[in-house]
This record gives sequence, C-alpha cells and structure tokens, in this order.
Amino acid sequence: MQKLLSINNLHVSIKESEILKGVSLEIASGEIHAIMGPNGSGKSTLALTLMGHPRYAINNGLINFDGKNLLALPVEKRGLSGIFLAFQTPFEIEGISLREFLYQIYLAKHPGSGVTEFETLLIEKLKILNLKPKFVERHLNVGFSGGEKKQAEILQLAILQPKLAILDEIDSGLDVDALKTVCSCINKIKATNPNLTLIIITHYPRILSYLVPDVVHIMQNGTIVQSGTKELAQEIERGGYSL
Ligand code: ADP
Ligand code: MG
Repeated sequence: MQKLLSINNLHVSIKESEILKGVSLEIASGEIHAIMGPNGSGKSTLALTLMGHPRYAINNGLINFDGKNLLALPVEKRGLSGIFLAFQTPFEIEGISLREFLYQIYLAKHPGSGVTEFETLLIEKLKILNLKPKFVERHLNVGFSGGEKKQAEILQLAILQPKLAILDEIDSGLDVDALKTVCSCINKIKATNPNLTLIIITHYPRILSYLVPDVVHIMQNGTIVQSGTKELAQEIERGGYSL
C-alpha cells in the first residue's frame, strides 16, 4: 500500500550550509511517529521543509504526500492538501479573535460554507477539547499562557481536520499538568479520526508516555540514525542520545 508520506534522501540547506543530510522516512496513514533528537539536529528544519518554508533550499531528494509531489506545491496548497504544522512558538496577533481566525482558516478549506456550519463544528470541537466558548473570543494568542497557546493550536487542528499533523515541540514550556491536558486533547481528536497521522517532534521522552508512538526515530546531525518502537524512547530517557 502506498504510504501517506514518503521522504527519500532529503538534503536541505540554509544559507549554503547543509542541515538535512539525506533524510528518508515513510509514514502510513493513521500512524504516530515521533522524531527525537538533541537541539540543533534538524528536527524543525524537517518540519518547516515539509510545510514549504521559503528559507530552506532543497538540494536533493523527493517528498511524496498523498500521491502528490509535495516539493512542487506552494505552502498554501500544502495546507489545503492536508498538512498542518503546529508552531513551537505561536505568534500573538492583536485585533483578530481566535474565533474569527478559525473561521477564516475554515473558509479557506471549505470555500463558500456558511457561518452556521462553522459555528456547529466549533461548538462540537470546543466540547470535545473541554474548552469554554469564551476562549475563542480572546485575541489570537495575546496574553495566552504557554498551555493556552498550545490548546489554540490543537483547536486549529480540530477545525482543519488535516491528514497529517506535525507537532513541533508542543511540549516546550508546558508544566506536567498542561502537558497532560494538551496530550489528552490530541488523543481525543485522534479518537474521533483514527486516520489522522501525527509526527511528534520532541527532545524529551516524557510526552511519548501520553501520546504513544508507533515508531520512534532518532535524528542526529541532520540524519535519522536509528528507528524503532516506543521502547527506543525509554532507552533515550535512561541513557540520553549517545546510543
Ligand atoms: P532542532 O529543531 O533539531 O533543534 P533546527 O532544525 O532548528 O534543529 O536547526 C538545525 C541546524 O540549523 C542548527 O545547527 C541551527 O543552528 C541551524 N539553523 C536553524 N535555523 C537557522 C537559520 N535561520 N539560519 C542559519 N542556521 C540555522
Ligand atoms: Mg526545533
């Protein structure tokens, strides 16, 4: 069966310096993959390259997503074809409410749909995620706590219903309780849509006890040096990255 995402020998550089040095990865629809690795190993570079950030130059390699040549698509088409990236540090934007923002991204995906349809979906998702309706009246991320910013990202994920969600260090800056809440929201979304495919990027193994991966990859110095089952994350917890 064709995989949802196939990355083949990807080489990527920033300002002439090569960051990804031959990454290959295959992910089937509905799987949860974790990409772990020390700071600076290239995890965010991979995430942003998948999304189409213009800073990254592709020197070699192929990426196939859902039967399409992803590298040929501009960023907005990548979003519309079902890739979602949750930001490590979401932007604060004064003057636009979270509700209005969610409505606009919903409209981009479902042109011509009415506000009632959106409101029904929003109410359903707020309920699933245990969020109060007042939450979406606040301006986009303005004054949100670390946990609330991540909840807002997860709410976008719930509204957009992508095929592939990339969560780049969704655990950064969260205390254990906030981490548990965010992970439980992601698990609820996954339960309502088992085909949702997840790439969880982290350098702490802890998140993987709440969001249990099918496959764990270790990235070091721009390549995947090891792949295994969730036990690999536990080995990292015990022994660090010097495997
Ligand atoms: P990770 O997410 O694993 O911490 P990154 O992908 O952010 O790693 O970074 C990989 C490497 O790319 C690091 O050596 C970093 O210094 C370099 N890098 C990242 N962003 C830039 C940039 N905008 N300009 C130059 N080098 C960068
Ligand atoms: Mg990073």
